[in-house]
Amino acid sequence: KAVVEKICWQISLQMRDQQQARQELPEGRKMLEFRSNLPAYKERETILSVISKNQVVVISGETGCGKTTQIPQFILESEIESVRGAACNIICTQPRRISAMSVSERVAFERGEKLGESVGYKVRLEGMKGRDTHLLFCTTGILLRRLLADRNLKGVTHVIVDEIHERGMNEDFLLIVLKELLPHRPELKLILMSATLDAELFSSYFNGAPIVTIPGSTHPVRTLFLENILEMTGYQLTPSNQIDDYGQERAWKMNKQAPRKRKSQIVSTVEDAIRSADFKEYSLQTQESLSCWNPDCIGFNLIEYLLCDICNNKRPGAVLVFMTGWDDISSLKEKLQTHTVLGDPKRVLLLTCHGSMASSEQKLIFEEPEDGVRKIVLATNIAETSITIDDVVFVLDCGKAKETSYDALNNTPCLLPTWISKASAHQRRGRAGRVQPGECYHLYPRCVYQTFAEYQLPEILRTPLQSLCLQIKSLRLGSISDFLSRALQSPEILAVQNAVEYLKIIGALDENENLTVLGRYLTMLPMEPKLGKMLILGAIFNCLDPILTIVAGLSVRDPFLTPLDKKDLAEAAKAQFSGAYSDHLALVRAYKGWKDAEIDLRGYEYCWKNFLSFQSMKAIDALRREFIGLVTDIGLVDSNTTTCDTWSYDVNLIRAVVCYGLYPGTCSVVHNEKSFALKTMEDGQVLLYSLCPIQCCFCLVEAYQKEMLIIT
Ligand code: ADP
Ligand code: MG
Repeated sequence: KAVVEKICWQISLQMRDQQQARQELPEGRKMLEFRSNLPAYKERETILSVISKNQVVVISGETGCGKTTQIPQFILESEIESVRGAACNIICTQPRRISAMSVSERVAFERGEKLGESVGYKVRLEGMKGRDTHLLFCTTGILLRRLLADRNLKGVTHVIVDEIHERGMNEDFLLIVLKELLPHRPELKLILMSATLDAELFSSYFNGAPIVTIPGSTHPVRTLFLENILEMTGYQLTPSNQIDDYGQERAWKMNKQAPRKRKSQIVSTVEDAIRSADFKEYSLQTQESLSCWNPDCIGFNLIEYLLCDICNNKRPGAVLVFMTGWDDISSLKEKLQTHTVLGDPKRVLLLTCHGSMASSEQKLIFEEPEDGVRKIVLATNIAETSITIDDVVFVLDCGKAKETSYDALNNTPCLLPTWISKASAHQRRGRAGRVQPGECYHLYPRCVYQTFAEYQLPEILRTPLQSLCLQIKSLRLGSISDFLSRALQSPEILAVQNAVEYLKIIGALDENENLTVLGRYLTMLPMEPKLGKMLILGAIFNCLDPILTIVAGLSVRDPFLTPLDKKDLAEAAKAQFSGAYSDHLALVRAYKGWKDAEIDLRGYEYCWKNFLSFQSMKAIDALRREFIGLVTDIGLVDSNTTTCDTWSYDVNLIRAVVCYGLYPGTCSVVHNEKSFALKTMEDGQVLLYSLCPIQCCFCLVEAYQKEMLIIT
C-alpha cells in the first residue's frame, strides 16, 4: 500500500509541475486572462471552499457565466495543485452528447492539452479517454450505465451534474440514484449546476445543501412581440374573414424584392407573408383577431423577412434564430441558400446548431466572422442554455420547441412542437445581450406569451415512463413505484401503473415485474419500447431492412407531403406506393425508390415528383444507419451481414411484425394453452397463427423455426 501511495504521490507531483509549466507559457497566460474575466472565475475560491466543506453543493448562474467550462476545471486544477491529481476522478454529466463532446474539447484546449489527456469524454458508441484522464465529460446515460456495473462508483471523487434545470428524465433519475448512494460514499462530492433560479428545489431535495450563486451581468435587450414587429411596418393582425387566399409563391416573390427599405413594399411583404400563411384552425383562441393565426407558417415567412431586414439595415452582430426542430432548420437553410434571399452570399455566414451537428460545424459557431460578414445561426433550443454564442446581438424566437427526430435515439419519443415556457422565452431573450445591448423578436403576440407556463414541466411528469421503468429494473432498483416515489417530483401513480401495465402486456416484464428476455433487450435499445420491439422482431424474423425504414419513418415528420393546392396529385402519388397496403409499406417502397434515385444524384428530383419530403428521407436514412448499429451492438444481427442479407419483402410478414410491434395499439391477441393468434383490431383479420402457445416474441421465433407459425 505504501508503495502505491508513493507512486501516486510522484505522479501527482508530476501533474502539478506540468500544469504550472503550461500556465507559464504565453498561450497559458492569455487563456488565463480570458478565463479570469468570466463571472464564474471571480467566485473560484468560494466555490472550491464550499465544495471542500460540503458533500453536496448547488451552483447556479446565468448561462454563459462559465459553469460548464470552468467549475469542473477549477476542481481539477485545485486537486492537482494540492498534489492529489493522480487520485482525483471527476465525472461531469451533460444532457446531450453534443455538449459532452464540445465542452471536453473546449476544456482540454483551455488547459493547453489535447483531448484524451487529463480531460476526456464518453458518449454512446464514442469516446476519447486516456490512462491519464481525470476529468471525464459524459452523457447522463453513460453515467447511469456505469452505475449498472458499479453501484458505488468506486474511485470516483466528484460527480458534477450539469444543466439540472432542464429536468430531463435521465437527470431526475440519476439524482434519485445518487441521493441514495451518498451515505455509502461519504467522501464522494456531488455538485449540481443549474442556470435558472429554482436552485432551492434541488437544495431542499438534498437536505438543504448550500447554494452558490454566481452573479451575472447582461446588457439590456429590446423586446418585441409579434404585434410590435408588425407595427414597425405599419401592419396589424387582421381577423380571418378579411383574409383571402394567396399562394405561397406570391409571398415568396415579394420577399425577394424586400431588401430596399421602401415602406409600402415592406408592408406588403409582411402582409403577404401573413396572408400566405396556411390558416389552419388554431386552438388557442385568445382574441378574435388571432383566431386564424397559425404560428408555424407565419413564423417561417416572418423569419425570412426579419433576417433580410437585419442583414440590410441593422448594425453588425450575429443573429440567433430559435426554431422548432431540426427539419425546420434544414428546410429554412436550404431555402435561404438556394434563393439568396439575404443578398450577397459572401456576406452571410449561415450556420445551424442542433443536437446532431458535426463538431467541425460546431467550431464555426463560436468563431467571429470577418468584418462585414453577418453570422446567422439557426438553432434548436440547444442554444438556449447549453451552447453560448458570444457575439449574438439579435435573437428571433419562434416560441416553440420539440425534441428533434434524432432525439428518438436519446430515449425521447418524437414529440409534437409545443409552446415553450416563460423561463425559456426569457433565456432566449437573454442570449441577445451577452456582449452589448441587443434585440429580441418574439414571433408570437404578447397575449400568447402570457399563456405560457412559468417553467416547462419536468420530463418525468410529461412523457411516458416505459423506458424509465425498464431502466429501473435493469439497475435492480427494486419496486418501480417505490423508487419513483423518491423522485424530486414524483410522477402520478396512475402514470406509473400504466407504464408497468403496458410493459407487462407487451411482454417486457413478467407478472412479478421482473425483466423478461425481451425486456432486457429493450433496455439496450434507447428508444420507445414499441419501436425497439419492432426492430427486434424485424431482426429475428429476417425482415430487418423494411422494418428499419418503418421504425425510422415513425420517428420523423410524415415524409408524404400534401400541399393544399395539389392534394389530388399528392394522394395519387402516395397511392402508387401503397397499392392495396398500408402507409407503412408505402413508406418502404418510397424510401427504396429514393435510395435508388440517390445513386444517380436524383433523389431530390424523385422527392419533388412524388410529393415526398427530401429532408424526411435524409433523416430516415440517417436513423436507419443508427438503428442498424444498435441492433448489431446488442448481437441480434451479425456485424458482417449487410442489411441486404436480411432483406425480406414478404408483405404479410412485414405487416405482422409491424402490428405485433404496435400491439396492443392496432391488434389483439387471442391465446390459450394450445394456440396463439394475432388479429387486427379493425376487421379481426388474422395476421399470425401459431399452433403452439406463445409467451414472448422469442417464442414466436421458435414457433416460426419449427414451422408451427402461420403468417396469413
Ligand atoms: P455556462 O455553462 O455557465 O452557460 P460555459 O462554461 O458554457 O457557460 O461558457 C462560458 C464562456 O466560455 C462562454 O461565454 C463562451 O465565451 C466561452 N466558450 C464556451 N465554449 C466555448 C467554445 N467551444 N469555444 C469558444 N468559447 C467558448
Ligand atoms: Mg453550461
